[in-house]
Amino acid sequence: MSAFDELMAFTHTTQALGQVAGRLGWDQETMMPRGAAEQRAEEMAAMESVLHARRVDPKVGEWLAAIDDAQLDQVGRAQMRHIRKSYARTMKVPADLAAEIAKVTSRAQGQWAQAREDEDVGAFLPVLEEVVGLKRQEGQALSDGGDVYDAMIDDYEPDMTAAQLGEMFDTMRPRLVALRAAVLEAEAPQALSGEFSTSTQMNMTRKLARAFGYDFAHGRVDKAVHPFSSGSGLDVRITTRTSDDDPFNCFYSTIHEVGHAAYEQGIDRAYLLTPLGQGVSMGVHESQSRIYENQIGRGRAFTGWLFEQMREAFGDFGIADADAFYGTVNRVHDGYIRTEADEVQYNLHIMLRFGLERALMAGDLAVGDLEAAWNDRFEADFGYAVDKPSNGVLQDVHWSVGLFGYFPTYSLGNVYAGCLNEAMRKALPGLDAQLAEGDTSAATGWLRENLQHHGGLRTPAETIEHASGVTPSPEPLLAYLEEKFGALYKL
Ligand code: ZN
Repeated sequence: MSAFDELMAFTHTTQALGQVAGRLGWDQETMMPRGAAEQRAEEMAAMESVLHARRVDPKVGEWLAAIDDAQLDQVGRAQMRHIRKSYARTMKVPADLAAEIAKVTSRAQGQWAQAREDEDVGAFLPVLEEVVGLKRQEGQALSDGGDVYDAMIDDYEPDMTAAQLGEMFDTMRPRLVALRAAVLEAEAPQALSGEFSTSTQMNMTRKLARAFGYDFAHGRVDKAVHPFSSGSGLDVRITTRTSDDDPFNCFYSTIHEVGHAAYEQGIDRAYLLTPLGQGVSMGVHESQSRIYENQIGRGRAFTGWLFEQMREAFGDFGIADADAFYGTVNRVHDGYIRTEADEVQYNLHIMLRFGLERALMAGDLAVGDLEAAWNDRFEADFGYAVDKPSNGVLQDVHWSVGLFGYFPTYSLGNVYAGCLNEAMRKALPGLDAQLAEGDTSAATGWLRENLQHHGGLRTPAETIEHASGVTPSPEPLLAYLEEKFGALYKL
């Protein structure tokens, strides 16, 4: 066997173990009894140390030294790009620090959930302080004296920097703020009201997942506090949540996670359990969930079909017709919760978190001051005060599990989705007629062929360029939002 073949065989097993570790995380969120949290933290730390040992195995270094990437084909070179990057990254982080991060973040996640339930920020801050301290140590190890936060962003979105994101957000912010102000002054569409059976919501969830091409032979849907998608290749699971008075939360969380899962399920099977066999970055991943959820799922055509489905499932729920329903689905409304935010305000929530975590990682903001900083910033941006911690600093799981640098990829995903939507609409002029029948196959097929199928073959920016034909920029997203909401609110 050549050094390359030996390295790929070794990597294949490491990838398989990584999938097992991921499934422990899925289980923790869906099935695990609460009393098992402490033991699970040990189990996950043990898996992490096995994975770490494989990633820094001296054999890997020897194979990497022996392989001449220029002798490989395009796929081989792309595999090597991922493997070399991951190896260099892993070698910089001491094994005991990696194990400690796995252990503490698992514990922190349980404490976050409890603190959120008890509305008790103080109960969460000590463990968050530990997480922030450990992540900053990790960032310093990774950054070679450069920016700690940039090193973290690079984990989720290779080649992206805080400065680039800051510049992008500076472009978006004034136009989003202006659009928000204009929309909130205009007459609001009717809000949804009434009670919606949660078992009927779960039935609709499966119907929606199928409508968007989710493959149940290679996945399953369960309930969890925070919806997510988990796994790659032949086993890609999603979660959703239900709420008696807000079925849209359930339906659009489902469509969103189906977008993530479709990406993983749609990757070329030749890449199974290799570094190319998973989404290339969090931003590109989010572009898939966002375009499914918003540009397709919240468009006038598809909501017409959804209206009929909801009438069938729930009877008359007080919305007169499909046009009114389109307004209801896209209603811009005050609210504290990022995951429930409309398309106009969503990115403002992300900018808030981006600013805070950038300051935390730079050491410019103490964990003890985080809640006050959050509340001040929220009131400045949205014009009203946070009423309780579960609506503020405790609303998201991300920081408890150490995901610093992850939040900005949500907005990046929206930006990418804007570019992809523009290209997809040009390529598929008859798309809306199909979406109006609940048939997403042309749209999801276009995305699979042009983006999902290729997995990690190209860099994130190249992946978007290959599919959309343009260099990623926020302009298509902003134009789409201004046009859609301008028409809907008669601005
Ligand atoms: Zn997502």
